[in-house]
Amino acid sequence: MVQNNVTKIKKIGISGGTFDPVHCGHLIAAQEIRERLKLDKVLFIPVGLPPHKKDHRVTEAEHRYNMVFEAVRSNPFFEVSRIEIDREGYTYTIDTLQYLKTVYGDDARLFFIIGADVVPELVTWRQFEEIFRLCEFVAVNRPGTQKKDFFKNVRYLKEQYSAIIHIIKLPLIEISSTDIRRRVKEGRTIKYLVPESVEKYIYENGLYR
Ligand code: ATP
Ligand code: MG
Repeated sequence: MVQNNVTKIKKIGISGGTFDPVHCGHLIAAQEIRERLKLDKVLFIPVGLPPHKKDHRVTEAEHRYNMVFEAVRSNPFFEVSRIEIDREGYTYTIDTLQYLKTVYGDDARLFFIIGADVVPELVTWRQFEEIFRLCEFVAVNRPGTQKKDFFKNVRYLKEQYSAIIHIIKLPLIEISSTDIRRRVKEGRTIKYLVPESVEKYIYENGLYR
């Protein structure tokens, strides 16, 4: 089959998060989605100052960025981006998406990857209706969210706002950054929950103690 690269529409996955720290749950989901949706790449974008996490202390952006860098370096389809951590003030997804459209072109398809816990929060994002026009979402199931609620919330956003939300079923991965921070604090193992390079980075920099 002859493929015309000039007209080929790019499909860019976006994995946004606090990544405090990035863990194997993020990586497994991104890898599976990249393959299933045949994305050209997945951009991991650590959030700068997350407006929704004002209540708890977030690790310095540079450390969170470095850990993602370490986690994705061996995967040719994965890339880490500084766009949000280099932006002043609170970070809003709408700004990131508008920027990515200027980089990849107006017709590029942006696929924003989220866990089931984030679906009900989408309507609290600044200019969320515009966000639904700029990108498609890829929602994956996650322990802690009832399947019934997950589907109900997705259906609501589709019907109410014409949001495009793809559901990708993954084996449930019971890993969270919260649990990893707690484990490090308590001196328990995080082996296999994060890539080895990330584990090393956490210990060498004395994070989460
Ligand atoms: P925290 O416990 O600090 O909130 P987290 O593990 O939820 O951390 P985030 O950086 O908040 O990680 O998440 C970024 C994105 O990755 C969110 O959309 C979240 O739902 C998703 N995600 C995180 N862990 C998983 C997992 N185990 N399975 C599926 N999705 C996940
Ligand atoms: Mg979270």
